[in-house]
Amino acid sequence: MHDLKEKKIELEDIPGVGPKLADKLREMGFSDPMSIAVASPSELASILEIGEVTATKIINKTRDMLEIGFTSADKVWEQRQKIGKITTGSKALDDLLGGGVETQAITEAYGAFGSGKTQIGFQLSLNVQLPPEKGGLNGNCLFIDTEATFRPDRVLQMAKSMGLDPDKALKNIYVARAYDSDHEIFLIDKAGEMIKEKNIRLVIIDSLTSHFRADYVGRGELAPRQQKLNKLLHNLQRLADSQNVAIFVTNQVLTNPAILFGDPTMPIGGHVLAHQSTYRVYLRKSSGEKRIARMMDSPNLPPGECVFKITPDGIRDV
Ligand code: ADP
Ligand code: MG
Repeated sequence: MHDLKEKKIELEDIPGVGPKLADKLREMGFSDPMSIAVASPSELASILEIGEVTATKIINKTRDMLEIGFTSADKVWEQRQKIGKITTGSKALDDLLGGGVETQAITEAYGAFGSGKTQIGFQLSLNVQLPPEKGGLNGNCLFIDTEATFRPDRVLQMAKSMGLDPDKALKNIYVARAYDSDHEIFLIDKAGEMIKEKNIRLVIIDSLTSHFRADYVGRGELAPRQQKLNKLLHNLQRLADSQNVAIFVTNQVLTNPAILFGDPTMPIGGHVLAHQSTYRVYLRKSSGEKRIARMMDSPNLPPGECVFKITPDGIRDV
């Protein structure tokens, strides 16, 4: 993590990057100098079709211009002090997550259809608007909907039960529909600008993986799919760190018993997501309104399980 004192510098200002390379960089999703500063020389070299020595020079120049490099531990500590947490609506689920959904991190919820991934997203899009003493961040939400399952009427129902001004609550959620994986990548690139302008503290991508599954089918497509997802997750982590926002992504898994090989509940995106997401929570149905959440992977939290429920009012404790 860096001390992110970002100066206003254009890609063209970086020595060695002319207008032509700048265009190419933007095309590949490197929209600002910070994205160059944290890129690897080999990544940059292959994208720009230049040598690694030249790529390293460009990266170092960018770091100089942005005045980033080694950061003293107290600065890292200072940055971590700024981490905010958003309540899920269930104390049990918050505890499982170490206090709620965190900024500067990616939280991934994966599970079968109907396990509650989208409902948690809806609840978070409202809870982020609450003041800190009520478990929010006084911020707004950016909701990227890839499955056409965003339901304002359902969000409204939850907002009313919280006593929020329904009009205001809906206005504070910026929704974009992503039509395919490229469009999804484009929208996530755009998110950077939106975050500053609209006081966004939470970015939801529901789901992160469905378009990738649809657009990259067959064995030969597996590597390109993972590469794209990997890069996207890098960008998301960068966004989470540099803008101090929470990222909540969902990932649908199959529970089709007809699948004979491998673990049918293996999340799409497989190990790529496993490495990148800071927190991974596996959701499954229990009886009635009840859902079980299990913490699968976290850098600082113990594995564990909890039960919560999905009520007409929203996500609640059992
Ligand atoms: P997914 O994991 O596929 O995104 P959802 O988050 O959409 O699943 O969860 C759907 C479930 O949420 C439904 O099966 C239902 O149990 C519950 N649910 C949805 N809307 C309501 C509501 N208005 N009142 C109570 N429960 C609801
Ligand atoms: Mg869903």
